[in-house]
Amino acid sequence: MRVLWVVIDALCVDKVTPELMPTLCELGADGWSGSALGVLPATTYPNHATLVTGAAPSRHGLYANEVLVDREWVAAGSVGPSVPTVFEHLGTKGVTTAAVFGDQNLVGVCAAQRASGHWPSGGVAPEGVPLGPTGYAADSATLAAALEMDLGDHGFAMVQLDENDAVSHVHGPDSPEARRHASAVDAVLGELLEPYRPVWSDTVVVVVSDHSQERVEHSCAEAFTEACSGEFGDPAGDGETGWYTDGTCAVVRTTASASDRVRRRLEAIEVLSEVTETAPGVFCVSGGPGVLLGLDWGQRGDHGASRCRTQVAVLGGGHGAVASLAGRLGASPIDSRSWAPLTLSLFEGA
Ligand SMILES: [Zn+2]
Repeated sequence: MRVLWVVIDALCVDKVTPELMPTLCELGADGWSGSALGVLPATTYPNHATLVTGAAPSRHGLYANEVLVDREWVAAGSVGPSVPTVFEHLGTKGVTTAAVFGDQNLVGVCAAQRASGHWPSGGVAPEGVPLGPTGYAADSATLAAALEMDLGDHGFAMVQLDENDAVSHVHGPDSPEARRHASAVDAVLGELLEPYRPVWSDTVVVVVSDHSQERVEHSCAEAFTEACSGEFGDPAGDGETGWYTDGTCAVVRTTASASDRVRRRLEAIEVLSEVTETAPGVFCVSGGPGVLLGLDWGQRGDHGASRCRTQVAVLGGGHGAVASLAGRLGASPIDSRSWAPLTLSLFEGA
């Protein structure tokens, strides 16, 4: 049994067509193809932590791309999930695992140091490899690393291809460039699957995205920052409430006892249209469609709001278990927390 997960960062379901992504469509045709609902905020690190743990951010603790520790927002990857991941669970069963991430910060986010092998080593950006437009490893570099690690020799392997997110940020998710890149990433997927072809009848493949993107219409970052500064002071907080902006959302962290009061204050902020408590004292907030609350760097696409929660979800492979797994998945959208327990169940008795 070999299980391969491929995360195509920010891939939107509208790109999964036989014209744009024939390899992905063919994979799903023999298994299951649909969508999943990710967790809030619809950002990379909370959703990857959920994929590998099967837990919501309220349990794994990575409730935003950065989390508040001792009155300082620190990178989620430097904290890591607070519950065991698929790598850890499978390791205790003696199953070898591997992780290859275009975004090097995912090594810490997914606690992939505990996999049998991971890349880039130590979660440090690799030197001298080609980079995508936002500075993470280009898919060509991630693919080369994956092929070098002989992923098919591992019981479980996970690959994250980052460049689709970068291209959609720069040009917009509905741009010709994003459509062209969907086809490019489909070709990369084909190359990732190639080493598995000789052992296809022993292989299960899961291809997902971590969130979608929306076209950026305008920024309300200034108004939101002003309102939050007035309500809560410094972003790092006064020991009670801190706030953090990211794309088309923001995350506000307070104490459980202050939660009701903070909710009322957030609901009074004019630029916000959605206030969701994702864990006791943790709020994910957003404005209208395409409204940036985070940094405006001239990007055409971004994500974070609940509008971007929809993920691509495709299951395939030649293993006999694929048909029964497809039956267990049910109707779209499935819950993105399903993938970890589903994968672990394949190794039960291993
Ligand atoms: Zn992402």
